[in-house]
Order: sequence, then C-alpha cells, then structure tokens
Amino acid sequence: MKFIADVSDLRGRYVLLRASLNVPIANGEVGDLFRLKQALPTLKFLQAQGARTIVVGHIGRDVTDTLRPVYEALSREITVAWGGLVTDPAFRVKRDAMEDGEVLLAENLRQDQGEKANDPEFAKLLASYADVYVNDAFGNIHREHASMVGVPALLPAYAGMNVRLEIEQLQKVMQPESPSLFLLGGAKFETKLPLIEKYLAIYDHIFIGGALGNDVLRALGYPVGTSLLSDTPVREDIARHPKILVPVDVEVQGPQGRRVCEPENVAADETILDAGPATVAMLKPYIAEAKTIVWNGPFGNFEHGFAEATEATAKLVAQSEAFSVLGGGDTVAATEKLGLHDQFGFVSTGGGAMLTYLEKGTTPALEALK
Ligand code: ADP
Ligand code: MG
Repeated sequence: MKFIADVSDLRGRYVLLRASLNVPIANGEVGDLFRLKQALPTLKFLQAQGARTIVVGHIGRDVTDTLRPVYEALSREITVAWGGLVTDPAFRVKRDAMEDGEVLLAENLRQDQGEKANDPEFAKLLASYADVYVNDAFGNIHREHASMVGVPALLPAYAGMNVRLEIEQLQKVMQPESPSLFLLGGAKFETKLPLIEKYLAIYDHIFIGGALGNDVLRALGYPVGTSLLSDTPVREDIARHPKILVPVDVEVQGPQGRRVCEPENVAADETILDAGPATVAMLKPYIAEAKTIVWNGPFGNFEHGFAEATEATAKLVAQSEAFSVLGGGDTVAATEKLGLHDQFGFVSTGGGAMLTYLEKGTTPALEALK
C-alpha cells in the first residue's frame, strides 16, 4: 500500500481526498468533532504541500442530507471553500479556479445514486477532477462505493494518515498479547457472529453484553422477557463456550419500573436494557489483568439512560495497563462525555469498518490502494 505522507511532489496537483465526514448532526450543527479531527492531519498535510485538495465524503442516510454543517465546522479549523454538488457544472468552474494549497469541500456524494451503486460513470466524473486519489475514510472502508473503489482504479491511489493509523493500531489487537479480552455489545448478533468465531480462536475471553448478550442469555435458557433479540438464535456451542462471558445481572424495565436482577429472574413483561453492577464487578479482574482489550458495542440502551454498565466499564478500561482499542459510532458516543478517550490505547473512527477489518484483515477499498 502506498501512503500519501511519503509523497512530496504535490504542489499544484489536484488531489481527490475521500474523508470520513459522517459526523452526528444535532439541530443543524455538528454534534461531535471526533471524526473531523481525525480527518485533519491529512488535510493539513496536503494543504502544506501546496496541493489543490478536493474533499469528498458522505453524511447521514437520507439523499437530502447535507455536508453544509460539516463545512461550517471545518471552516473553524482550516480555510476551505464550499464546492456544492460534484455533478453541478459550477463545481468544475470552482475546481478550475483553485490555487495551490486550497481546499474545496463537495456536497454529500450520496445525494447521487451513483455513489452507493459504484456507478462507473460517477467514478469517472470524480476522477476527472483530480490527478491523485487519497482514501482517508476509514469509517467507510468496508463499503464498495464509487468514491471508495471506483476512483482508485482510475487514478494513482494512496492511503491517508488516518487510514494508516487505523490499520497500524488494529493490527496490534489482531495479534493480541495475552491475557486478551474482547468486549462486545450493541445489536445484531448475526453481523458479529463471524467475528466472534474468529476471535474465539485468538482471544482468551470474549464478553458479550448489550442486545447481543440477550441473544446469548436466551440460548443459555434464561427468560429474556420483551428484550431486543436477533432474528437467528445463537448456537449453543458458542453460548456455552468456556471463553464466553455473559452478564451475571441485568437492569430491566417493566410495568413496575426499573430494577436489577439475575438473568433467571427476568419477568415475561420486562425488558433487559443494561448489564448490572455485578457484571461490571465480574469483568473488573479480567480488565485489570488484560494486556490487550478490544471493545465494540455499548452494553446497554445508553441513548435512553441505560449507560451505567458501559460507563463503569469504560472507566476500568481507561485505568487498565492493557493496550485498549475502542470503536464503533455508538460505543464512542456512549463513552465520550467521560473524557477518558485519551486514556485508551486507540479510539477507532470505524464501527462496521473496524469490525470488518478485524474479521477479514482487509477490504476491497484497501485492496484498491495496493
Ligand atoms: P456501535 O455503533 O458502537 O458499533 P452498535 O450499533 O452495534 O454499536 O449497537 C449500539 C446500539 O445497541 C445502541 O443503539 C444501543 O442502544 C443498543 N443496545 C445495547 N444494548 C441494548 C439492549 N440491552 N437493548 C436494546 N438496545 C441495546
Ligand atoms: Mg451503531
């Protein structure tokens, strides 16, 4: 793989930079700057080299979602101009007028169907704006979209600084130093099953909490009431695997309100929404003794006030001597306000991207940079 940081003759050259700009927006403003901050080193490098940088990315799920708030936030960090839609003839006019060291931010690529469809014509249009392509969008690295795999087939292609950092850090947890602990939470068991199967072979312990934990508790024969479950039941050989740890107490909500109980005592009209304090206490020595910890997925429905187990665990991981990696949009959001992120070994900008990389060790978008 070639890295843009190793290239020096960029003055005056047009660089198409695919960045991770998919930040949470609240009331028309960027709610969390983490991903944008991670995009800055490559941007500043290109600017300092005198490149003419065209930044592209996506935001949200809706075709009308706009990168305008990202433009406002980015403007506070660097000098940047708004390019609008890449399909608009005015975009080329702005692009042609760029001077060395200038940055032009394009509107949400997903406003065009061609991005997600990996339409060759859309990729050709994007490539026509630049001499060099840089992929720094680790958060999107598992997606085969036009700006991720189409464009690098048409231009000299490099990995940006954030992609390089992510790969270096994630490779460390793929060859963990023992004792190693994988903390897994969040939802959609079936999407995380291949990862669990792979890491059962290389990690000493895997804790499964969150909605995933509900699936395991059910497979173990516990009552789970009205808890969120995945469509496919968890196989018993996974649920009963000696390396798998599960919640020993849960916080539930029912007609009588909130309470903490043992998994065997969840009533039919109760919903498991978090792990309980005994579960955190159970995890404590594993975390304290671990040399490697990787964590994806909150242990509870933190958006609705069930954040205690996740927060208490984050504090323990922050205190631990282990090399720790935390990743996932919701996991980062759930732990951010604790102000502990600089006490982790590494915080990934990837959720699905991190899990895909940890499972497969590469992705088509990364292969396209080779
Ligand atoms: P990440 O974005 O960090 O990769 P996921 O998207 O896999 O994490 O999972 C996060 C979601 O899981 C959150 O919306 C959270 O509310 C939900 N969740 C976690 N535990 C539970 C639970 N017990 N019941 C319902 N939802 C849960
Ligand atoms: Mg998520």
